[in-house]
Amino acid sequence: MYNAKAYSAASATSPLASTTIPRRDPVDNDVQIEILFCGICHSDLHQVRNEWSEAMPTVYPCVPGHEIVGRVTSVGSAVTAFKAGDLAAVGCMVDSDRTCPECQAGQEQFCPNFILTYNFPDSHGTAPVTYGGYSDGIVVDEKFVLRVPPNLDLAGVAPLLCAGITTFSPMRHWNVSKGKKVGVVGLGGLGHMGVKFAHALGAHVVVFTTSPNKKEDALRLGADEVVISKNADEMKKHAGSFNFILDAVSADHDINAYLGLLARDGNLTLVGAPEKPLAISAFNLIMGRRSLSGSPIGGIAETQEMLDFCGEHNITADVEVIPIQKVNEAYERLLKSDVKYRFSIDMASLKA
Ligand SMILES: [Zn+2]
Ligand SMILES: [Zn+2]
Repeated sequence: MYNAKAYSAASATSPLASTTIPRRDPVDNDVQIEILFCGICHSDLHQVRNEWSEAMPTVYPCVPGHEIVGRVTSVGSAVTAFKAGDLAAVGCMVDSDRTCPECQAGQEQFCPNFILTYNFPDSHGTAPVTYGGYSDGIVVDEKFVLRVPPNLDLAGVAPLLCAGITTFSPMRHWNVSKGKKVGVVGLGGLGHMGVKFAHALGAHVVVFTTSPNKKEDALRLGADEVVISKNADEMKKHAGSFNFILDAVSADHDINAYLGLLARDGNLTLVGAPEKPLAISAFNLIMGRRSLSGSPIGGIAETQEMLDFCGEHNITADVEVIPIQKVNEAYERLLKSDVKYRFSIDMASLKA
């Protein structure tokens, strides 16, 4: 074992602060990575503040971060896919059982025994739980390490590992492609990636937003049209016309207004998670045989496909790069949606 520098929270009410954490020495299939950038996901904030105490109670100290990109520093003797000096990325999972039907199907995100990148029992026994990417290094089995296209800006690559795959996966599943009409509800960390992917996949992209001042940005990101969702007349013009709508809003909102915009066999997929149960009008689904789904991240192979797609189409997240010392301030700004569109922590600042 060795000590890595990190930022951790000591309790649900303490700010993140500088610390050292144990990491295992890389053996066998392990890849040791020097972390260069780590994105800040809203999940980090929920976990650090123990806001998911029922489903996933937080074990302290908590080191969050699951949007990791860096450079390989060393590898175990059995590693074949990586060597020292390679770029590498790690997302929300660091392992799974590899034997269940989901793993066999390459859908590790549905494995009942997956191990998340932080706050999950550490099967290697290095620490009580796994520690995430707000750190200068991490050691991960090569099966859960992704290759990074060399042409992309690394600060903007980091958020692809959660916000990117979360929006890419349902678009692939529901066959977003040329000739399809796609809606994206909400233009935040997830939504802005949804717009970029839908545009690159060749769809006609319509962004729904409550803020007229986001219109220009939506068009810049790749939207063909922008609809102010509070304007009923504007909404009505699009009734029954969408093949797919990605709903990335976590705040309470009227989902029926969007279900009514779907064409026959159209699908609306939720990637945001409103706290309260949703009220759905059954007729909105019955008429037009529409469907409503949810979707989490994606499997490892699909995450690699997403990164390769980003390399080909030169796609990265729009980020504001911050030093780790500003992480607590960034959390406060995140609560006010005051970021365009994701924070990316420059881990070189951890050496300061
Ligand atoms: Zn995330
Ligand atoms: Zn499994």
